[in-house]
Amino acid sequence: MSTHSISHYINGQLSAGESGQVQDVYNPATGEVTGRVSLASPADVDTAVAVAKAAFPAWADTPPIRRARVMFKFLELLNAHKDELAEAITREHGKVFTDAQGEVARGIDIVEFACGIPQLLKGDYTEQVSTGIDNWTMRQPLGVVAGITPFNFPAMVPMWMFPIAIAAGNTFILKPSPLDPSASLLVADLLKRAGLPDGVFNVVQGDKDSVEALIDHPDVRALSFVGSTPIANLIYERGARHGKRVQALGGAKNHMVVMPDADLDKAVDALIGAAYGSAGERCMAISVAVLVGDVADQVVPRLAERARSLKIKNGMELDAEMGPIVTAQAHQRITGYIEKGVAEGAELVVDGREFDPSETGEGFTEGFWMGGSLFDHVTPEMTIYKEEIFGPVLVCVRVPDIATAIQLINDHEFGNGVSCFTESGSVAREFGRRIQVGMVGINVPIPVPMAWHGFGGWKRSMFGDTHAYGEEGVRFYTKQKSIMQRWSDSIAAGAEFVMPTAK
Ligand code: NAD
Repeated sequence: MSTHSISHYINGQLSAGESGQVQDVYNPATGEVTGRVSLASPADVDTAVAVAKAAFPAWADTPPIRRARVMFKFLELLNAHKDELAEAITREHGKVFTDAQGEVARGIDIVEFACGIPQLLKGDYTEQVSTGIDNWTMRQPLGVVAGITPFNFPAMVPMWMFPIAIAAGNTFILKPSPLDPSASLLVADLLKRAGLPDGVFNVVQGDKDSVEALIDHPDVRALSFVGSTPIANLIYERGARHGKRVQALGGAKNHMVVMPDADLDKAVDALIGAAYGSAGERCMAISVAVLVGDVADQVVPRLAERARSLKIKNGMELDAEMGPIVTAQAHQRITGYIEKGVAEGAELVVDGREFDPSETGEGFTEGFWMGGSLFDHVTPEMTIYKEEIFGPVLVCVRVPDIATAIQLINDHEFGNGVSCFTESGSVAREFGRRIQVGMVGINVPIPVPMAWHGFGGWKRSMFGDTHAYGEEGVRFYTKQKSIMQRWSDSIAAGAEFVMPTAK
């Protein structure tokens, strides 16, 4: 199998950079190396930032409606090439093609939102705040901003960031995950074809070194990060030390409460899809089922049967429900958690380690395969309850009532997403009000907010106070200026030495 080079994209051109360092990129379904991605040095980052800085004044001066027209054209091209993008995602991430299509579709939602930038940038105006004086506010772009993104959504998460940042008049540097970097270059090509001036969108491939160079660079004004909590925390603190705006979205342990009055068929369907979809490698995956009252005795056997019969195969097969794990290292980490769960006394009802890779067909036996695992009788002290596993492992915790369920969830260090399945309006209402989690679903297992609502968790699932995309995204990528204006015919003679008040 031949491998290809995956480079940076700077000033409208592919560039191998000067570091000479590369990292292997795998197809997780076959275990083969399919590409080699360049890893940027600090000097490569400097080049990209200089290019983005040079492109900023003209782009910021471009009228918002013309920036929006580039977004409209990009939207048209994205729609025309969305399957190509989804295929690139499946090839390097492993998630099933239909799920990759869904990822692209949710990214497209944000591009549609960004097309409305002229309306979103409108300021406020007050006439006659004092005699002859008017006051208004406007929002202006920041300059060069950077996005650092995780492996699990190589197209959607960057699209949470750059469409809004660019439409608002900033120039952008994307630092994708080195595990699945190809989607970033497809996007860069589509943006160029949409008429985006060179230098406005750049891609710097790499890992820790390039991220640190971006954080420390004085010309990078803001950082959007999505990834694991330890790195999110680090980026938030280091960025803040440099006086930068930072939004850093971290890891998760999302619970789904099943009440005794819930429609159990729907609850089981929801748990299976949300726990094992994308092999559990989603920040909004459900990884804990909180089973209230006697519901566990009905739900656990049904979950077990479904977990055992998941269709696990190469993601390009259209009936596949779950693909491989992203890397051999991630496979090892998840296996380690399963061992720990057993050692700490949880009941392993379905053991995904027993999955036979030969079931996936010829050519795929060397891939990073694993079945879905299911644990019952998990308690809050266990490692598999406390930590994010980020794999196809669902743990069940049994609780006596909704109050205990809410307390359990509120005590967890993460607060990204949560869900409650019930037929009771009052339980749903109380749950929504009392739960200490940023994104809540009622009879919805993965409540990812729509493009115009904004995405963000609470507690250690997010550092910073401005959520990704939606109007919060527009605020993040712009700064507000207030202008107060008076013309000479209304200016009284003489200096004033007291605090100005309305006259
Ligand atoms: P990760 O934290 O390993 O990597 C994220 C990004 O940070 C990548 O671009 C990576 O190259 C870079 N990076 C890695 N180590 C670094 C270091 N030491 N210093 C600076 N940069 C570094 O995360 P991942 O494994 O790619 O993605 C999975 C994680 O992302 C999970 O924890 C998941 O919950 C989280 N995630 C969160 C959200 C959310 O919205 N909250 C969305 C998607 C994924």
